[in-house]
Amino acid sequence: MPTDSDSEYDPSLGNKFIFVTGGVMSGLGKGITAASTGRLLKNAGFDVTAVKIDPYLNVDAGTMNPYQHGEVYVLKDGGEVDLDLGNYERFLDVDMTSDHNVTTGKTYQHVIERERSGDYLGKTVQIIPHITDDIKRRIREAAEGSDVCLVEVGGTVGDIEGMPYLEALRQFAHEEDDEDILFTHVTLVPYSKNGEQKTKPTQHSVKEVRSIGLQPDIIVGRCDDELEPHTKEKIALFCDIPTEAVFSNPDVEDVYHVPLVVEEEGLDEYVIDRFGLAERALPREERANEWREVVTSEKEGEVEVALVGKYDLEDAYMSIHESLKHAGFDLGVDVTVRWVDADEMAPRHARRLEDADGVVVPGGFGMRGTQGKIDAVEYARANDVPFLGLCLGFQMAVVEYARNVLGLAGAHSAEVDADTPHPVIDILPEQYEVEDMGGTMRLGTHETEIEPGTLAHDLYGAESCHERHRHRYEVNPDYFEAFEDGALVFSGSAGNRMEILELEDHPFFLGTQFHPEYRSRPGRPSPPFVGFLDAVMDRAEAREGVTA
Ligand code: GLN
Repeated sequence: MPTDSDSEYDPSLGNKFIFVTGGVMSGLGKGITAASTGRLLKNAGFDVTAVKIDPYLNVDAGTMNPYQHGEVYVLKDGGEVDLDLGNYERFLDVDMTSDHNVTTGKTYQHVIERERSGDYLGKTVQIIPHITDDIKRRIREAAEGSDVCLVEVGGTVGDIEGMPYLEALRQFAHEEDDEDILFTHVTLVPYSKNGEQKTKPTQHSVKEVRSIGLQPDIIVGRCDDELEPHTKEKIALFCDIPTEAVFSNPDVEDVYHVPLVVEEEGLDEYVIDRFGLAERALPREERANEWREVVTSEKEGEVEVALVGKYDLEDAYMSIHESLKHAGFDLGVDVTVRWVDADEMAPRHARRLEDADGVVVPGGFGMRGTQGKIDAVEYARANDVPFLGLCLGFQMAVVEYARNVLGLAGAHSAEVDADTPHPVIDILPEQYEVEDMGGTMRLGTHETEIEPGTLAHDLYGAESCHERHRHRYEVNPDYFEAFEDGALVFSGSAGNRMEILELEDHPFFLGTQFHPEYRSRPGRPSPPFVGFLDAVMDRAEAREGVTA
């Protein structure tokens, strides 16, 4: 969303921090709760940023399997981070950097490097104070330049891995003024068999938090429904906070509606009051309303899109799902994404492909599923079905065209088939010597020049774009000539690197070596996704597939 509220950092405010912890179990959506609070503060005119703490030993998420952790989200500086950072970027409409994702791996690596270089002057290096000091430093640095910084601790209170972080937050709060820090604890409020909202898990979880020396200021209860007044009173009494500081986070149809629910409950007002910011906040009627307008925009119908990937897990392709949704907000249509297993084009999956009005082939690594992806490209190309290929999807479109149109039998990406007679996709020259897997790809934002008069130029409305990358392979320059006279055109490039491809005489066929999905936001959808969805809607309408 364009910076709608005049949220300008006001140094006289000093930083305020909202620490967010989770109890009872993971997956309660504390990131979304935090991001929603942040969104409302932003609407009220404050400059908001966030830090996600991941207590795992990986230095970053770059080497992690999407099946376990969901997608690896890529930041403009090339940081490969937890997908929660994507939520913060989308909700707060900010661009973050790797410094906003604190991991145990990063912290320990840094402290151990300092120890090796003799920085600690003979001291015994310990979790307290050396690791905790480093954690506090990282939080303070990431918060610089913002009025309010949300700090979310991943995992659940009580996890061994999380302990140093909670201790660091305890010290942090001790060092800062009371009115600059708020602790929010997100817990689960389940129903009993007879339909009663149960507060015991919350009580136990808060007891655990307090045993570490932290006292929540705010408790948010995740529940199927809103918390009943009686439930809130009980939580307040047993957890020692005012009833007004207990909030609900009920199920909603769309995560983008959480800020609206949170606003209704007055969480933003409570935070603003507790921080003593009431005078600085924009009056309610002057607050930015664009978020609400965008996420509740009228939908005319529904379309179905096939996503041909390896993982039967929405989180593994989260930013793509979100980008399609953003394009849907813009074009007034609901998008249903059907996963098609690239590994096994069983009839059931092939049928899903045919039922859909558009095909997305996402990024990926390794051999598994590549044949299915190539088949899906062929299906879309030959049948005039709108196609969007992202990174590996772009590469497989090049391979498919080389094989089936240019007649280069056995053409492939050298990543998948090292012995291919036609490595139309080959390793980037600068990657020859790379041995380490972590953080060594071509990463982050790079400029792409766009050829005037092309579909890409139409979509971006500019002669260049800046999108985020994460790849080791690219179109092999030895084959540029082979593609020269065909219908497949490289309409975007960066020097010798081909970045965008499109097909002439096709309703919509676009591939990008970069990942446009990481820059899409509600209210500022990504151009390739908007163009794709528009073509999908046209096809659905032609097939009368749009159900009102
Ligand atoms: N595996 C391919 C490469 O490294 C594509 C990467 C991706 O899809 N993110 O180039």
